[in-house]
Amino acid sequence: MRGIVCQVSCTHLDTSHLDEYPDFISLAPELPLCTLRTSDYLLGVIKNKIRQTPERIIYMTNLILILGDQLTTDISALAGADPKHDRIVMAEVHEEASYTNHHKKKLALLFSAMRHFAQQLQKDGWQVHYQQYHPDNEHQSLEGVLSSLLNEIRPKKIITTECGEWRLHDQISRWHAHLGIPVEIRTDTRFIASKREFADWAEGRKQLRMEFFYREMRRKTGLLMTPEEKPEGGSWNFDSDNRRKWSGKPAAPAPFRVEPDTITRNVIDLVEQHFADHFGTTDDFHFAVTRTDAQEALDYFIEFALPCFGDYQDAMSDNEDWLFHSILSPYINCGLLDPLSVCETAARAWYAGQAPINAVEGFIRQILGWREFVRGIYWLHMPDYAKENRLGNTRALPWFYWTGDTKMRCMHNAIDATRRNAYAHHIQRLMVTGNFGLLAGVKPEEICDWYLAVYADAYDWVELPNVLGMVMHADGGYLGSKPYAASGKYIQRMSDHCSNCHYSVSKSTEPDACPFNSLYWHFIDRHRADFERNPRMSMMYRNWDKQKPEKREALLQRAGYLLEHLDDL
Ligand SMILES: Cc1cc2nc3c(=O)[nH]c(=O)nc-3n(C[C@H](O)[C@H](O)[C@H](O)COP(=O)(O)OP(=O)(O)OC[C@H]3O[C@@H](n4cnc5c(N)ncnc54)[C@H](O)[C@@H]3O)c2cc1C
Ligand code: SF4
Repeated sequence: MRGIVCQVSCTHLDTSHLDEYPDFISLAPELPLCTLRTSDYLLGVIKNKIRQTPERIIYMTNLILILGDQLTTDISALAGADPKHDRIVMAEVHEEASYTNHHKKKLALLFSAMRHFAQQLQKDGWQVHYQQYHPDNEHQSLEGVLSSLLNEIRPKKIITTECGEWRLHDQISRWHAHLGIPVEIRTDTRFIASKREFADWAEGRKQLRMEFFYREMRRKTGLLMTPEEKPEGGSWNFDSDNRRKWSGKPAAPAPFRVEPDTITRNVIDLVEQHFADHFGTTDDFHFAVTRTDAQEALDYFIEFALPCFGDYQDAMSDNEDWLFHSILSPYINCGLLDPLSVCETAARAWYAGQAPINAVEGFIRQILGWREFVRGIYWLHMPDYAKENRLGNTRALPWFYWTGDTKMRCMHNAIDATRRNAYAHHIQRLMVTGNFGLLAGVKPEEICDWYLAVYADAYDWVELPNVLGMVMHADGGYLGSKPYAASGKYIQRMSDHCSNCHYSVSKSTEPDACPFNSLYWHFIDRHRADFERNPRMSMMYRNWDKQKPEKREALLQRAGYLLEHLDDL
């Protein structure tokens, strides 16, 4: 009897035909050995079945790993899986929770969303091995958790969907050798362009421009395309309409809120207890943590914010953290929302006359264009991309990025919102905290680490190209045709920050002059060799050269002083 039980212990048996035998208790997969009350008779039945139709009654289990940013039943790892036989593994492990100083709200969001998703899978009949985080858990890495399950379950193979960052991808690609079991890594079909498709598009191009890729994606999906294959509204891009300053009217909608349930409250306690030294706060946690709630967040955005999304896309405000942005990236990136469905929902709003074309096209471009584009670049050039530093920056990240403790109103506001919400909108990330890092010549890896840590939507594949390429221009202009460097004037034009600032935006060399002003000219001057021949920058060099030598000298001196005293600003 023992021999037979051992022989079948790593398999699942189709037991439906055995129900009539009272001796049979269970062949439940949770039990390492089948629990049989006796009997030679029953074993005879099993032996017979194995001999007659092994393919019908023996099924080799697959162990399906679902990562914290793959929280959808549409994930490719689940395709063709069988809830009766296959096992799912999900794990909260120290290695993933602490490879960077993740914002506390980001940890709470992901742990809670993972637990809710696991619960849903179990309700749907899946067998899920779920490891909740505890510092004393024996296994604190995904590999460790899997290796312990292999002994217990003895699966035929591990199946997973490709992950979103090189660090983990590199580890997973070695599991086959480390764990001694086949590991099937499937394409992440949630993206609209596959890695291969992007690589084919990029082939032979020296510089990549999002706009052209975006048009390909419009054609591919048919989003906002006429039956004649022309862009709806007569233009591919309505960005020039999307630069209004916001004066307080129309009122911006409050962000969509979900009050924490028991699972979320438990997770918040856990984060406070075990990740107390991480950046940010869990106060006022109101992120959606289920697909249903994330879908409601999308509906809320479409109804209340999308109509003004375009007009005020680049605006910033002293009094409003969220303005008309969607706040959907945390959900799209962890799998609670599907990017293509989000775009389709927005497109339907335009066809229904609920939102204007500049808003809908602008919103769709961010997801269909930028999001897919940066992901393509990441996988095309990693791991070397992360080491790029073409502007040769060496300065440490100023400490106030972690505290918000600076007299620069715009920087304080963006960092403080980041600390409270694990969120800042695109223009704050690009033209305030990013712009300052660029002008100050911060080391790319330090500022990349900051962005990866502090936002609820931050994953290496999307953060790195945005920061290293778009903001820091450290890839030599591969991603963007010119650096997004700007003086205080830009921030003044797009916000009300300057009127409440310790510094004066109209000054550039005095002790109370806006730091962005002299730092901007210092940047232009020190990178002459890099940018003078860039047609989109040549006017800046003409303006710089036109200034009196004493003025130029004063600007450089002021900037030199600021660079020596960044932490005091
Ligand atoms: C320095 C810097 C760092 C960034 N880091 C991240 C990051 O870690 N994770 C992240 O998801 N986005 C990142 N972005 C892009 C963008 O700022 C955020 O996606 C956006 O602010 C999220 O807020 P939202 O959902 O309200 O976006 P909305 O303004 O409502 O835009 C709609 C959607 O478009 C997508 N999107 C917009 N811009 C981009 C972009 N440049 N790249 C990729 N997707 C985009 C997002 O999915 C977003 O939800 C970064 C941008 C910059 C300049
Ligand atoms: S004056 Fe300068 S530092 Fe102050 S808010 Fe304006 S741009 Fe920022």
